[in-house]
Amino acid sequence: MKQIEEPARTTPVLAETDVLVVGGGPGGLAAALGAARQGAKVMLVERYGCFGGVIAQSMVGTVAWYRTTEKTVDAGGIGTEFERRAKDMNASLQVNHYQVLDTEVFKHIADLMIQEADIVPLLHTQIVDVVLQDGSIGGVITESKSGRQAILAKRVIDATGDGDVAARAGAPFRLDPKETLEGVTVNFGCSGIDLQEFITYILKNPKSISDWGDESGEKEAAEFSTYLREPFDKAKEAGEIPKDVRMESYWGSFTDAGEIPNLNAIHMAGIDSTDVWDLTRGEIEGRQRVMWAVEALKKYTPGFEKARLRTIGASLGCRESRKIIGDYDLTEQDVLNQAKFEDSIGIFPEFLDGNGIAIMPSTGRYFQVPYRITLPQKVENLLVAGRCVAGDKVSHAATRQMMCCTVTGQGAGVAAAISLETGVTPRRVDLARVQEALRAQGVRLD
Ligand SMILES: Cc1cc2nc3c(=O)[nH]c(=O)nc-3n(C[C@H](O)[C@H](O)[C@H](O)COP(=O)(O)OP(=O)(O)OC[C@H]3O[C@@H](n4cnc5c(N)ncnc54)[C@H](O)[C@@H]3O)c2cc1C
Repeated sequence: MKQIEEPARTTPVLAETDVLVVGGGPGGLAAALGAARQGAKVMLVERYGCFGGVIAQSMVGTVAWYRTTEKTVDAGGIGTEFERRAKDMNASLQVNHYQVLDTEVFKHIADLMIQEADIVPLLHTQIVDVVLQDGSIGGVITESKSGRQAILAKRVIDATGDGDVAARAGAPFRLDPKETLEGVTVNFGCSGIDLQEFITYILKNPKSISDWGDESGEKEAAEFSTYLREPFDKAKEAGEIPKDVRMESYWGSFTDAGEIPNLNAIHMAGIDSTDVWDLTRGEIEGRQRVMWAVEALKKYTPGFEKARLRTIGASLGCRESRKIIGDYDLTEQDVLNQAKFEDSIGIFPEFLDGNGIAIMPSTGRYFQVPYRITLPQKVENLLVAGRCVAGDKVSHAATRQMMCCTVTGQGAGVAAAISLETGVTPRRVDLARVQEALRAQGVRLD
């Protein structure tokens, strides 16, 4: 690649804080709230205009859709608080044992939670580099409408999903070849649906989790799924959608205004969300596919005849990119064998969805989430939270789930605050104290 030299420059310091959280998705929100509730001075920086990450950008409100029976257990904590807050504001739909969040109202709920915890929010600001000294992170460099600036921090939590901060800091990470990464999605919503007619059609043609074509067992075959494929197959048969385009939809919820706010139908392979050319191609190709999908729904789906495209996600949604190499890398065996860890920062059910596997946690089985998956190697005072935590490809299908992102987020946030309180690096933090604080914040650890 052709390169240019940039002149050295002096960068103004925009702010200084104890704990800086980069990225305002489920992982980052939980990290910021966890640290602030532990008494730290916290700043939360987000590149877009609202907090929520995939919840807000891709309208994904199903933060705990795996909770289909009363047997399923999870960590509680900030993830379930999202559900509770949305329910209290009449901004969710109860399904089975979970709430589907109204993702528009959730943007406001996130603001409220941040304000209540005295977190300093900063939107429209992208982290482009780090301040590093002797292998320890001391802040980040930002770019925004205000120009290039620095934020100094005693602890930094990377919750960018893509591990941007860890990568810029030189922490080792894995980024699998893009052909093997989980597909990206441009989500969309429709209005003007005759819901009664649509639901009648769905009930007459029930689908299950195993219809996804993923590796799954008998219990998955028995679980109802909002999987929809027929209209797209018909459109392909009629030559209206290219046959080689993967199109099958899941829909999370509906409103009594005749809307399905989130149709997850576009799955595009071979896109690396750390490559801006791939992102551009994915957005444009994704919107083309959304147009095909809407036409197919209108033509071949009872209840959709008068439907209209209501929204296209503000950003393409990504499921997998960089994973840090941590002090511990979570494995498939850990998720499937109810692993126990002395450094548990929470639990997550035996739920896998992605990378070709679908396992529903209807048995009550769960694993403990170890603190060490939030600790990147080689860089001090840096933690990660959310989908970029350390682990293999199969365990990623658990740790990428939004509830699990809030577990690693809250754990990393509380640990960052306690490491500051006690004057040690996050790698040396007193875990008994972290666990006690997490329990006091309502997190189940075992
Ligand atoms: C289409 C789709 C459907 C899904 N469905 C479900 C589901 O039903 N249930 C479920 O549990 N999970 C689902 N997932 C997975 C889940 O949404 C993600 O794995 C999860 O949101 C990851 O959380 P996170 O906080 O790590 O990252 P994100 O939610 O991606 O949040 C990262 C945030 O960091 C910001 N950011 C990134 N880089 C920078 C930077 N350099 N500077 C500043 N800010 C930055 C981003 O703008 C974003 O707000 C789905 C994912 C997709 C894409």
